[in-house]
Amino acid sequence: MGYNPAIELNRLSYHYPDGRCALKEISWQVQPDEIVGLIGPNGAGKSTLFLCLAGVLKPSAGEIRVAGLNPTLAADRKILPSQLGIIFQNPDDQLFCPTIGEDVAFGPLNLGLSLPEVQQRVQQSLEQVNLLGYENRVPFQISGGEKRRAALAGVLAMQPKILLLDEPTMFLDPRGRRELRDLLTKISGTKIIASHDLRFIHKLCTRITLLSEGKMVADGSPDILLDQDLLEYHGLEGLDA
Ligand code: ADP
Repeated sequence: MGYNPAIELNRLSYHYPDGRCALKEISWQVQPDEIVGLIGPNGAGKSTLFLCLAGVLKPSAGEIRVAGLNPTLAADRKILPSQLGIIFQNPDDQLFCPTIGEDVAFGPLNLGLSLPEVQQRVQQSLEQVNLLGYENRVPFQISGGEKRRAALAGVLAMQPKILLLDEPTMFLDPRGRRELRDLLTKISGTKIIASHDLRFIHKLCTRITLLSEGKMVADGSPDILLDQDLLEYHGLEGLDA
């Protein structure tokens, strides 16, 4: 595993083309296997941060390393999906093939793996998310919870060391939330979970990072979620709200 942090940001700033400053000099290190809850009100910069980590947006200033890779370099960006997986807010944005099996196979096929290896990864990741036997199911005919897990299977099939999850409990009922929480506990690796669902975050995360107006305003133990005044000041509701 080495001693490298999973994620390292050094004074990362990002301005959108219209001049809006979405991230302001963020310095942040995440160690392998940490489970970080990324919280903050709407517009805090959480999605922008994910897009910078994934190499979709190029920082205006500062440095990014993800599993030692620099997402601003084309050569590193090519390898990035085997190290970093993103689960989007809405699984409908992620599932685009006619069947679940094809969807999960898409990434491994792009890695250039042999067909038997692809098949093995598809089976393995469907099993991990409790969707064995769903290979021929059609994405729009399964439940919200199943869609979320199918999207996760597609990312797990790439065997990334780091997972970014954007509002993973959106559209889930209480059972779906519980299943997802159990699943994320079982999956090894570094996880960054951006969410307004503070109860979910509190049960799962080993660390909390609070973003507000593009700045990191708190970073530390999950006890941050018990600081009612801090949360309210930054437009969030406390755990017992
Ligand atoms: P969050 O995910 O925490 O809700 P975002 O990263 O979406 O926050 O947004 C951070 C800031 O950047 C906000 O002020 C938002 O209005 C702005 N922003 C987001 N996307 C764009 C865009 N495409 N163009 C201009 N400003 C944007």
